[in-house]
Amino acid sequence: ATPMSVMVGVGRGAQLGVLVKNAEALERMEKVDVVVVDKTGTLTVGKPKVVAVEALRNIDEVELLRLAASLERASEHPLAASMVQEAKARTLPLSEPSGVESPAGKGITGTVDGRSVAVGHAAFMSEKGIATDHHTAAAEAYRREGATAVFIAVDGKAAGLIAIADPVKDTTEAALKALTSDGVRVVMLTGDNRTTALAVAKRLGITEVEAEVLPDHKADVVQRLRAEGHVVAMAGDGVNDAPALAVADVGIAMGTGTDIAMESAGITLLKGDLSGIAHARGLSRATMANIR
Ligand code: ADP
Ligand code: MG
Repeated sequence: ATPMSVMVGVGRGAQLGVLVKNAEALERMEKVDVVVVDKTGTLTVGKPKVVAVEALRNIDEVELLRLAASLERASEHPLAASMVQEAKARTLPLSEPSGVESPAGKGITGTVDGRSVAVGHAAFMSEKGIATDHHTAAAEAYRREGATAVFIAVDGKAAGLIAIADPVKDTTEAALKALTSDGVRVVMLTGDNRTTALAVAKRLGITEVEAEVLPDHKADVVQRLRAEGHVVAMAGDGVNDAPALAVADVGIAMGTGTDIAMESAGITLLKGDLSGIAHARGLSRATMANIR
């Protein structure tokens, strides 16, 4: 490969907000036939907002939010930030949590004002022996709208749910269309609930969805597609995407995301605009044509 044409490609990428760290990533981009995309923060803006708080009879709604948000101060998850933000907007006095445990892709537990609090998805609650059935229908209704429902338990008993919505980026739909009309297969990969994932996918015309994937397994999905003979690009923003970005043929991080994602990727989309993926393919073709 002549370094000169690669350098030209890298320079043109930079003008388009496509930061190429690794020249090989640019070279491989033209051969990519599957793009795997994380949902939260990649397809969506990544700034989720609380849209509903529903308390069960044993607690009031404001106290439910206050306890959940106090605990979530200890988490760096975007969902956690949305609960803290909502509590602050309502000027609720947040407490300092203690004894916090936060298993990745599941939720968080700890003590707030002497009460044991757990926040997380339904499976996490059932792991803790907490039944969420009384709220299943409400949760499903929010999920069908594309929102994420997290359950809250206080002192070992279900206390309510919080629905959180993250809008799709303005640029996502056109960016995906450019890829599919170029013959690229798009697969959504998310730790979020299947109903939520399918609702967002439907809105975007994505037909392949891998949902409820634990952080450790995201890389396995990418490896499986590669083992099937595909040249796979993975786009993601989170700490939990880093291993998948690292094993993909081309890792594509959002410049709006975490440092660890950017460190694991060969390409960074500065503003998180996914149209950069199609741009990178175009640059790759032009670059490789020049070399041949
Ligand atoms: P994604 O792949 O969409 O970025 P994650 O793997 O980070 O999602 O999380 C998967 C799910 O785990 C979330 O949708 C949520 O239900 C639950 N979860 C993870 N972290 C937290 C947290 N700090 N508080 C509440 N729920 C959480
Ligand atoms: Mg994400």
